[in-house]
Amino acid sequence: MADCIFCKIAAGEIPSEKVYEDEEMIIIKDINPQTKIHLLAIPKKHFESVSDMTESDAQIVGRCLYKIGKMADKLGLENGYRIVSNKGDDGCQSVKHLHIHVLGGQKLAEKMC
Ligand code: AMP
Ligand code: ZN
Repeated sequence: MADCIFCKIAAGEIPSEKVYEDEEMIIIKDINPQTKIHLLAIPKKHFESVSDMTESDAQIVGRCLYKIGKMADKLGLENGYRIVSNKGDDGCQSVKHLHIHVLGGQKLAEKMC
């Protein structure tokens, strides 16, 4: 997608603080962190949200979740974390390329909204 900021980050056309990369995903530091540790797991393939995934996209997202789980301790999230993926206006999705927020590094609020 020509005008998608996360496609450009995934392609290395826009700089980011990558903490992990493989052939199908990156994990970067959020530029505007909402918690002490705020990461974004981003599939390199462009699709807008969980509502727009194909079955094979869902497998990529599954592997993103698997990787987050495996890397959590190394990322400073050994005490726990929260995973969120915003969708659409009500979900306050601002970047229309699926991404998974990983929030932690501190005790989070019990309620999510
Ligand atoms: P959402 O509102 O769920 O679509 O989340 C988009 C997230 O992307 C926000 O938390 C932004 O701070 C983050 N973000 C936007 N641009 C960048 C960027 N260039 N590098 C890292 N994170 C970004
Ligand atoms: Zn994109």
